[in-house]
Amino acid sequence: MATGKINVSVENIFPLIKKFLYSDHEIFLRELVSNATDATLKLKHLTSIGETTVDYGNPVIEVKVDKEGKKIHIIDQGVGMTKEEVEKYINDIAFSGAEEFLDKYKDSAKDSGIIGHFGLGFYSAFMVAEKVEIITKSYTDAPAAHWTCDGSPSFTLEEAEKDTRGTEIILHIAEDSTEFLEESRIEELLRKYNKFMPIPIKFGTRTETLPKPEGAKEEDPAPTQEVDNIINNPNPAWTKQPTELKEEDYTGFYRELYPMQFEEPLFHIHLNVDYPFNLTGILYFPKLTNDLNTQKDRIQLYQNQVFVTDNVEGIVPEFLTMLRGVIDSPDIPLNVSRSYLQADGAVKKISSYITRKVADKLSSLFKNSREDFEAKWNDIKIVIEYGMLSEEKFFEKADKFALYPTIDGTYYTFEELQEKIKANQTDKDDKLVILYASDKEEQHSYIEAAKAKGYEVLLLDSPIVPHLMQKLETSKENISFARVDADHVDNLIKKEDTQISKLSDEEKEALKTDIEKIINNKSYTIQMEAMDSSASPFIITEPEFMRRMKEMQQTGGGGMFAMGNMPEMYNLVVNTNHELVSEILSTKTAKKKERLINQSLDLARLSKGLLKGEELTNFIKRSYEMVK
Ligand code: ADP
Ligand code: MG
Repeated sequence: MATGKINVSVENIFPLIKKFLYSDHEIFLRELVSNATDATLKLKHLTSIGETTVDYGNPVIEVKVDKEGKKIHIIDQGVGMTKEEVEKYINDIAFSGAEEFLDKYKDSAKDSGIIGHFGLGFYSAFMVAEKVEIITKSYTDAPAAHWTCDGSPSFTLEEAEKDTRGTEIILHIAEDSTEFLEESRIEELLRKYNKFMPIPIKFGTRTETLPKPEGAKEEDPAPTQEVDNIINNPNPAWTKQPTELKEEDYTGFYRELYPMQFEEPLFHIHLNVDYPFNLTGILYFPKLTNDLNTQKDRIQLYQNQVFVTDNVEGIVPEFLTMLRGVIDSPDIPLNVSRSYLQADGAVKKISSYITRKVADKLSSLFKNSREDFEAKWNDIKIVIEYGMLSEEKFFEKADKFALYPTIDGTYYTFEELQEKIKANQTDKDDKLVILYASDKEEQHSYIEAAKAKGYEVLLLDSPIVPHLMQKLETSKENISFARVDADHVDNLIKKEDTQISKLSDEEKEALKTDIEKIINNKSYTIQMEAMDSSASPFIITEPEFMRRMKEMQQTGGGGMFAMGNMPEMYNLVVNTNHELVSEILSTKTAKKKERLINQSLDLARLSKGLLKGEELTNFIKRSYEMVK
């Protein structure tokens, strides 16, 4: 028997391994199953190129928990190792790799989540085991080897009795890691990290019901048999060519990824590149709710079918992190911090590739089946609008397919909208005025008023729309957005036939002074305007600019709009052609005039949704008194 000391400078590396990787102990299983997979794939390669004549067969990797013996076994039928190879790969290379890794990352170890993503490999076994054995037989004629190490740098290495090819790793689980002796815990880990690994993984057996033999009686029980319980799907959809897959394969795979998701995805995007980087994957557009914080099913990142993380921040542009699916790339560096990742050239290329593919997919959906695209718009608009705001490249493409629905459900592209309104909705500088509502119910009376004048009113209700409008106003020439209850619509739009006022300038001035005195509120600016006599006598509007600033403050504009509290500012537009207004003007008793003005103002405020609390209660009381 050979004994020796592993050549390391640190006296005892194992306490270090435990300490620095505390939060990520569970990855030991991923690492060991990955090694078993690598060893099996190596053998597959060797047989395929004719290096060896051994029979590859149908290898599986088996994981076994021996709760009583406090052991976990990981058994493969791969290339195995000779004694010399154990010396070299386990004692020298793997160990120095582990040492180097720890040395490099012990300072940043607190930056959790980065450490433990590959690099420690085999030695991560010591995070959970007090003793590790390797029993291995090479695919060559060399005798089997048995390596044992109890966590100190000393090991033993001797010949062993094993005549089947492959490697068995035995972990003697430490006292503080007995959670890993629970079968349910191991199954959970296998499903989390190894669900799509390329070699079948066996974990126990399960009972399968067979079809009843012909002629069996009704009451005869169906025969059963014990079969291997295979944890993984070795050929997940993303590893196949798009031409091999049908629509139901994609929805089936979605179900496999997110078994708890009951909604069908809206559509998918198959990613597949091998130059200048390697990346495969499938992204899905889910139906999104406006509440983006509750999202827990996220895009999963894999490396060669091994699960790494579901935090793809920095790899996928932020607006696409709302999507679901899988990305698999060996070219994403993992032992680094997120900020480093964002500066990495390959990662930048990956991010812009994904953005481009998503834009192209949306564009072809728009072109090929516009009707369908319109039907889905409400569910996908958040992603698209957010993307237009945050990625210039995406904006350029999305500008051609982003939709602007009207209140009545017609969908325009920006170009179509411009064409549609240019005859009727320009201001005095020939700028196009795009009218919109953000809430169909709340702004109902304003919407109706605008529609009565033949204006197109859009329904733009996503929370980031104020930011997007700002962006469109600056990136396009000669357009501006105005909400239907913003500065009075008639003022915005150039009109050939202005109404003639029934009141003289003196009368208007007198009424204005009266109203100002009675309402005595600095937040209101009084505007006298000649409108159609059928329009409302009093209308409250809020300047577009002020309101939008307030909204942007609420939805966060990256500090840019954090400018303290915005003052309340409203216009009270008085229709000088309305009968009621003439009546108020000619009212002789001051008391009665005051009552009419107050009641009218309250009605205008009610219509704008500004009347609340005690004021509303008083208003209702007063109104009952009047109808009595
Ligand atoms: P890596 O997998 O990144 O090479 P590891 O520390 O995980 O690093 O493994 C070190 C080496 O030990 C592997 O490269 C391989 O040569 C050998 N090895 C580990 N596990 C097995 C196994 N199950 N079968 C054959 N060789 C193995
Ligand atoms: Mg490894």
